Amino acid sequence: MAEYKAPVQDMQFVLTEVFQADQLWASMAATQEVTPDLVHAILEEGARICENELFPINRSGDEEGCQWNDGVVTTPAGFKEAYSTYAESGWVGLGGDPEFGGQGMPKMLTVMFEEMVYAANTSFALYPALSAGASLCLLNHASDELKQTYLPALYEGRWTGSMCLTEPHCGTDLGIMKTKAVPNEDGSYQISGTKIFITGGEHDLAENIVHLVLAKLPDAPAGSRGISLFVVPKFLVNDDGSLGERNPVHCGSIEHKMGIKASSTCVMNFDGAQGWLVGEPNRGLAAMFTMMNYERLSIGLQGIGLGEVSYQSARTYARERLQSRSPAGAQQPEQVADPIIVHPDVRRMLLTQRAYNEGGRAFAAYVGMQLDMAKGHPDEAVRAKAEGLVALLTPVAKAYFTDRGLDVTVLGQQVFGGHGYVREWGMEQFVRDARIAQIYEGTNGIQALDLMGRKVAANGGEWVRSFSEEVNEFIESQTGLEAYTQPLADALARLNEATDAVLAQVKEDPNAIGAASCDYLNLFGLTAYAYMWAKMAAAAQGQSGDFYQAKLQVAQFFMQRLLPESQGYLAKVLAGSESLMGLPDDAF
Ligand SMILES: Cc1cc2nc3c(=O)[nH]c(=O)nc-3n(C[C@H](O)[C@H](O)[C@H](O)COP(=O)(O)OP(=O)(O)OC[C@H]3O[C@@H](n4cnc5c(N)ncnc54)[C@H](O)[C@@H]3O)c2cc1C
Repeated sequence: MAEYKAPVQDMQFVLTEVFQADQLWASMAATQEVTPDLVHAILEEGARICENELFPINRSGDEEGCQWNDGVVTTPAGFKEAYSTYAESGWVGLGGDPEFGGQGMPKMLTVMFEEMVYAANTSFALYPALSAGASLCLLNHASDELKQTYLPALYEGRWTGSMCLTEPHCGTDLGIMKTKAVPNEDGSYQISGTKIFITGGEHDLAENIVHLVLAKLPDAPAGSRGISLFVVPKFLVNDDGSLGERNPVHCGSIEHKMGIKASSTCVMNFDGAQGWLVGEPNRGLAAMFTMMNYERLSIGLQGIGLGEVSYQSARTYARERLQSRSPAGAQQPEQVADPIIVHPDVRRMLLTQRAYNEGGRAFAAYVGMQLDMAKGHPDEAVRAKAEGLVALLTPVAKAYFTDRGLDVTVLGQQVFGGHGYVREWGMEQFVRDARIAQIYEGTNGIQALDLMGRKVAANGGEWVRSFSEEVNEFIESQTGLEAYTQPLADALARLNEATDAVLAQVKEDPNAIGAASCDYLNLFGLTAYAYMWAKMAAAAQGQSGDFYQAKLQVAQFFMQRLLPESQGYLAKVLAGSESLMGLPDDAF
């Protein structure tokens, strides 16, 4: 059977030894109370709930799925109880603002916990992830009154959140949405329209659901500049905070899908439901981006978490499954065959899994650190740089974590041979659960366009230069680490060459960005992971113990066996758009 133990030691290593998080937290007013002991306790306690409460209902949740009956959605057996335990233990508000009852933990720490939750039970993880994203959006854009009304209950987990963007005819292109918001005399709005694919739009876990809904006002300009954001509760909230009438927003059906079967994916019908404007009229998409950016990093963690649980299960299987003899001669002559972990190709699969998982975990902490610094660093210049890096790296994290997440779960399945394809061992569920992460929250193709177009080309590569300077400073500060820093320097040079090439192509060719973007994102992701692996090697170098030796070994594997793919990505970026655009549409 699949197995999962939260990688707490690795998480501690990343936070403390790679990034010296305790020093950073001590230097910022909002995180001064985050002590190493507290961090340790949170990771240990988080591991406990993930391993003991959430993982045991992962498989049964997949088998049972959510059920829809006349508008009522029931989650699989055990989910309601697990959610109560989770909410009552304060996990939903872990990163929330203390002014409204959140626990104010830094993002660098909450990404670690989120990874565990996704690993243990991705379907479950989505419910609180949506609540956390909705809370962040309200915190940043809603009036004080709306914040007081919604945030404490969301942080407590008594209510959950949902994000309602997609409509039957519009997913990527939200500018063409049809949902309408008509002003009421009391300052609220009547929301009418149909949203589809709404995660956690209806379920039985919490007493109320807070929908954040994009809609158009009657006089709204066309396109994405005419979209406003509204908060629409399932049950209206009375002045004293108690629940009032049922708002006319109902779940018409749920989707039957490839994976995340215990996460409800809902068609939501808004039939004149009462809602309240969040932020400025017609500026809703920008406000919603606060939630989407949060969710994008969160969904990236889905890729890493599923990669980790797949790796752990594959590693155990590879030690136990006996097939063939080692090319170097029998390793366990007393057995009928050697365990498959002796074969170079099986080790390639396991090491690839591990290198992507651990590289991704470090990069998630790095992006979390930028978010924390952008929010609370005392030095304005540090804050400004961190803001640029967050914007630049969010699409990389979402797409690269989830693309590699799927690759890694497929490798884990492959280690099991035919036993990975059948249901019994649970490996195929990880593949099915990982697949959606490449699609929702903006497809990975759209993440790549966001990176190349809005985060690189739009400012002439300024943010990439800032990232590149930081990596160069790190390389120059190291001695005796050339086995790691030289491949990193080579990859960085390729990234810079690719950036310059696309910035030049763009002047002549309107398809240049679209043609280069996915390969550019992969090149960026590989380079970022190389930076993480070099930093981890620097932290492990000179330390004794199996953990550190293994780090250095996996770092070497990454540099020698995975990073060379950056050469291929650079070649593809340099090839331009001609071979993509030459074939006429009707010749496909
Ligand atoms: C299980 C599940 C849960 C979801 N949860 C939510 C949720 O909670 N809330 C919510 O609002 N939505 C949710 N979604 C919707 C999801 O975000 C969309 O499906 C996704 O953004 C893609 O939109 P689409 O399906 O309409 O595809 P389309 O926009 O039709 O895209 C189809 C293809 O064309 C490509 N494409 C489109 N435009 C461009 C372009 N300009 N350049 C290059 N390529 C392009 C896309 O990358 C994609 O490959 C969910 C979807 C699923 C399946």
